Amino acid sequence: MRTYKPRKRLVAWKLAYTLSVLLSTAEILWAQPGARSIVEQSKQIPVAYDVDVVVVGGSSAGVTAACEARRNGASVFLISDRPYVGVDMCAHQRLWLEPGEKPTSELDKAIFGKDRWATPLAVKKAMDEALLTASVPYLTGCYATEALFDERGNIAGIVMVNRSGRQAVKAKVVIDGSRHAVLARQTSAAFRGFEPGKKTFRFIVVGGEMQYGENLLGRKLDVTYDSPTSRRGPVVKYPVYEYTVSIDMKDGSPASFATAEQEVRNLVISRGAKDCSEVLYFLPEDTVVGESRIEGSWPGAAQCDISAYRPRGVSRLYVLSAYADMDKIAAENMLRPLEFMAIGRRIGREAATMAKALPSPDRVELHGASSGSGPVSFVGEGLTGLRASKQLGMILAGPRPLPVFGQYDVVVVGGGTSGAPAGISAARRGSKTLVIEYLDELGGVGTAGLIGSYWRGNRRGFTQENDDGIGAGQRWDVVAKSEWLRRQLLKNSADIWFCSFGCGAIVADGRVTGVVVATPQGRGVVLAKTVVDATGNADIAFCAGAETQFSVSALGVLSVQLAGFPHRNLGDNYNNTCYTMVDDTDVVDVWHLMTSMRLVHGKSQGPHAPYDVGQLVDSRERRRIIGEYTLTTQDILNQRTHPDTISQHMSNFDAAAFPDSAMLLAYDMKGPDFRVDMPYRCLLPKGLDGILVVGLGASAERDAMTLVRMQPDLQNQGYAAGMAAAMVAKLDGCTRKIDIKEVQRQMAKEGVLERRVIHDRDSYPMSKSAIAEAVDGVKQLSRQHDQSGSVVSESMKALAVIMAHPKESIPFLRDAYQRTSIRNERINYARILALLGDNAGVPMLIAEVSAMTEWDEGYPYTSGRDVGNVFSDLDRLIIALGYSRDPRALDPVLRKTTILEPSTVLSHYKAVTLALRHLKSPQAIGPLAKLLAKPGFRGHAITNPITTEYGADGLSRRRSFDQLNAAFKEIIIAATLYQCGDDRNMGRTILEQYSQDVNGHFASYAQAVLDGKGLPN
Ligand SMILES: Cc1cc2nc3c(=O)[nH]c(=O)nc-3n(C[C@H](O)[C@H](O)[C@H](O)COP(=O)(O)OP(=O)(O)OC[C@H]3O[C@@H](n4cnc5c(N)ncnc54)[C@H](O)[C@@H]3O)c2cc1C
Repeated sequence: MRTYKPRKRLVAWKLAYTLSVLLSTAEILWAQPGARSIVEQSKQIPVAYDVDVVVVGGSSAGVTAACEARRNGASVFLISDRPYVGVDMCAHQRLWLEPGEKPTSELDKAIFGKDRWATPLAVKKAMDEALLTASVPYLTGCYATEALFDERGNIAGIVMVNRSGRQAVKAKVVIDGSRHAVLARQTSAAFRGFEPGKKTFRFIVVGGEMQYGENLLGRKLDVTYDSPTSRRGPVVKYPVYEYTVSIDMKDGSPASFATAEQEVRNLVISRGAKDCSEVLYFLPEDTVVGESRIEGSWPGAAQCDISAYRPRGVSRLYVLSAYADMDKIAAENMLRPLEFMAIGRRIGREAATMAKALPSPDRVELHGASSGSGPVSFVGEGLTGLRASKQLGMILAGPRPLPVFGQYDVVVVGGGTSGAPAGISAARRGSKTLVIEYLDELGGVGTAGLIGSYWRGNRRGFTQENDDGIGAGQRWDVVAKSEWLRRQLLKNSADIWFCSFGCGAIVADGRVTGVVVATPQGRGVVLAKTVVDATGNADIAFCAGAETQFSVSALGVLSVQLAGFPHRNLGDNYNNTCYTMVDDTDVVDVWHLMTSMRLVHGKSQGPHAPYDVGQLVDSRERRRIIGEYTLTTQDILNQRTHPDTISQHMSNFDAAAFPDSAMLLAYDMKGPDFRVDMPYRCLLPKGLDGILVVGLGASAERDAMTLVRMQPDLQNQGYAAGMAAAMVAKLDGCTRKIDIKEVQRQMAKEGVLERRVIHDRDSYPMSKSAIAEAVDGVKQLSRQHDQSGSVVSESMKALAVIMAHPKESIPFLRDAYQRTSIRNERINYARILALLGDNAGVPMLIAEVSAMTEWDEGYPYTSGRDVGNVFSDLDRLIIALGYSRDPRALDPVLRKTTILEPSTVLSHYKAVTLALRHLKSPQAIGPLAKLLAKPGFRGHAITNPITTEYGADGLSRRRSFDQLNAAFKEIIIAATLYQCGDDRNMGRTILEQYSQDVNGHFASYAQAVLDGKGLPN
C-alpha cells in the first residue's frame, strides 16, 4: 500500500537520528529504569512566530495583557493550553461576581453584561473577540515547555508543544501566565520552596447534591448556573457548590498534583452533577521572588506595585499568575476576574514599552545540558512546524535532560472510548497503569464529544458492564459515564493525569520505551513497558516514527470524513454534528474550528443562548497507523476470520465522505449491518515494538474504518488490548510474542469476544471455485449506489471475493467478459478488470463514456449520504477507465474535462481527476488550465484566518458546503495540472496558496503534491 509521509519530516528525523547516534556513540539508547531524567538528543526546532511579546497561559489577564501590548504597538502572540481562552474563569468554573464587583471595561461588560454570572461560552467568546479585534494571533491547545535564551542569557522566547508537534516562538519579552510558572522556573529566578504537607484546593461542582466529609467544606453559592434544555425548551437553574478541600501532598510533581486532583474529585462529584472545574484552584506558597512583594490586603490593580510580577534579577519576564510575588490573601483578591484583567492590562502596556526599547534577540537557542550528563535517548516528535511551507528558520536545541515523571508497566495515552477501557483492563490484570488524558474527563467522543448514544455495535462484554454500571440503554448520561470510568480506574489502582498531553515517544532499538508528556508542571517523560496509543490519532506511534495514513489515501487522493464540533448545554448528552472537514493533527485547523464555532454559537443572546461548546472535535476520521495488517473493505463483506482476532465489530458503512477503496469505487453502499473481526496485527505499527494502537488510530482502510469505529466495539477493543498490553509488559514490550489465544480465552470468558474466535483460522485465500463463482456473481452488479441500508446483494458479496483475490480473479474475469454478449454484464466485467489495472474491457468502457455526452446526476461533498458523497454511473465508468492506465482512455476522459463547469458537482471533478492522475499525460494540461481560468473557479484558499476583510471580529468562518466544494474543485484540478506538468506555474501557485490554508487537510495535501507525493504507484 502506498502511503504519504511528509518529506520534511523525514529529513528532520534523519538529522535528529544522526545527531542522537553521534552523541551516544556506543551507548545503548535506553532510558535506564529508575533514572530521574533522561537526556534528549540535540535537535532543530522550527520557529513558528517571531514577536515582541509572547503571552503564555490563556487566562483572562493573559488576554488583556496581549490586547494591551498590541494596542501599544507591540507584535504579540498568545497561547493557551486549554482548547479556549479565559482559562482562569472557565477551567476553575469561577464565573460569578462577588457583591460590589462592577464591570467597568468593555471586556468586563461583554462577559457579564448586567448579570452576576457568565456562561463559559460568554467568557470564551468575549476573550476570542478581544484578541481578534486587537489582531492578536493566538492558538489554543498549546503547552509552553521551555524558555529560550539569547547569547547574553536573556530570555528570548519559548518552545511550545501542540497537535502539530513542537515549535519555537522568538520574543523580546515573555509574559509567563502558565499555571505553574513553568517558564520562569527555567530562568535564574528564585522561587520560594514548596513545603510538603496539607494543601488547600477549591473545586466547583454544578448540579447534584452538596457533599459533606472530613477535610471538606462546601458552600452553596448565591448564584445558579442557568442552562436551556434545548433551543426553545425550559431553562434549568443548577445549584453551584464551591468546595474547599485539604489534601496531603508530598511534593509539587505532576504526579502529586494529579493524585490530589483525583482525591478531590472522589470527594465532591456526586450523582446528578452536570459540570465541574477542569482543574484545581490553588494558591501557591512557592511563588517567585519578585522585585517586590505584595503582603496582606490587595491594594487593587490600579495601585499595586507591578514589580511584584517581575522576578528579581531576571529581565524581560513577567509572571502573570498567583505565582507572582504575593501572599495568599493578596493572590486571592488579585485573581478575581475584574482585577486580574485589570492587572493584565498594566503588564501588557509595560511589556510593550519594554519590548520597543529592545533590539531583536540574537542567536536564540534552547540551551543544552553540560556534557557528561548520561546516555542520550532518542525522543521522537513532530518537528515540521505549524505549516511545513512557512517557517521562520530553526532553533538549535542542545542535548537536554528531560525529567522522568513516572515509571509504569502500561501507559495509556488518551482516556477516550477505547483508552479508558484499556487502562481499566490493564490495571485489572495487576499492571501498574497510568492513563494520560488531555481533557479533564474520560470517555472521549462518547462523553466530551457529546455522542452519548450507540450506533450499531456489539453491546456485550465490557461495554455491557459499563452500561449496567451507569444504567445506560441506547443512550447515557455523559457525566455519569466519565465518572464511572474514572472510578473504575482508581478502584484498580491506576493513576490518571488529566490536562496532560502525550507529545513524543522514547524509542530504543525499534521499541517504544516511554512517552513524552506535557503537563501543567512542564514537559517530561513517563517510562513504560508497554504504551497503548489511544489518542484516536496515532499521536504516539507517529512520534515514534510509525508510518501512517490519513486524508491523502493510498491512491494519492484527498478525501476525508466530515466532522463537527457541538454546542453544549448542561445536561446535554447527544449533539451529533457533521458540517466540516478538520485535521485533528493540525493545531491551526483545530483552533480555527473551535474559535469560529464559539463565535457562531455565542451569537445567540438571552436565556436560550447555549451554555458552552464541547471540548473535543468530533472527527469521524483521524490519522491511522499502517499496521502489521490493514483491515480492508472486502474483509468486511467476506467476513474474513483470523487466528488473532482481538475485537469484533458490527455496523453498516457509516461514511461521511466519498469512498476511495477500489471495492466501493466499483459499487458504493451504506449496506445493512456487517459483522467483522479485527486482528491483533491491526494494532501493531509496522516495525515498532512496545506499542499498541487502538480506536480510530488502528490500521484499516478509510472505507473499512467507517464500519469498525462504533463505540460499543471500540470499548471492547480497548479492553482486550489492555489485557494484551499487560501481557506485553511482562515480556518487556515484545508485542508480537504474547499468547494471543490466552487473551482470546479470557475475553471470551468476560463476554468481550465470541468463543469461536479461539478456534478461528485465516479464511483466506478462498478457493478457486469460490473465485470462479464470484466472477459469475458480479454480472448483476449495479452501478447505482444503494444507500437504503436494508440489503446486501449477492453480487456485492461476489465483488468482495474478487477484490480480495485480484490476481487469481483476472483470468476468470477476462474469460467471462469475452463469453457474455449482454451489455450490462460486459460493462461490469470491463469495469472490474479496469479497476484491477487490466485493459481487456477498455474499448467497451470508451464506447460507454463517449456515448454519454452530458453529465448525469452527480453528487457534492456534504453531510447526507442520500444526497452526497457518492459517485454517479458515469463517474464510475470514468474512474475505471483511468485505473486501466490504457493511453486510449485519455481522449474520452479529456473530452469530459472540457464539459466541466465551475457549477458542475464535485463527484464529476473527483472522477476526472482520479482518472487523469492514473493517465498522467501532458495532453491534460490545456483543458485543466482552461478550466482553472474560468471566472469564479479560483481564489478559494483561506490563507490568513485573521484579517479585517472578514468583518468586525476579523476571523474567517468555516467554509459552508458550497465553499468547501468550490475549494475542493480548485485544489484537485490544480494538483492534477501540476502532476501532469503544469502550465506556467499556475498549478504550483494555487498549491502554494493552499499549503497555507487554514484547513489542515488542504494544507498538507497541497504540500504533499508540491513535494512530489500524491500520485498512484
Ligand atoms: C460526530 C460523530 C458521531 C458519531 N456517532 C456515533 C454514534 O452515534 N454511535 C457510536 O457508537 N459511535 C459513533 N461515532 C463513532 C465513535 O464515537 C468514535 O469512532 C469513537 O468514539 C472513537 O474512539 P477513540 O477511542 O478512537 O477516540 P476518542 O473517543 O476520541 O478518544 C481519544 C481520547 O484521547 C485524547 N487525546 C487525544 N490525543 C491525545 C494526546 N496526544 N494526549 C493525551 N490525550 C489525547 C482525547 O482527548 C480523547 O479523550 C461517532 C463519531 C463522531 C465523530
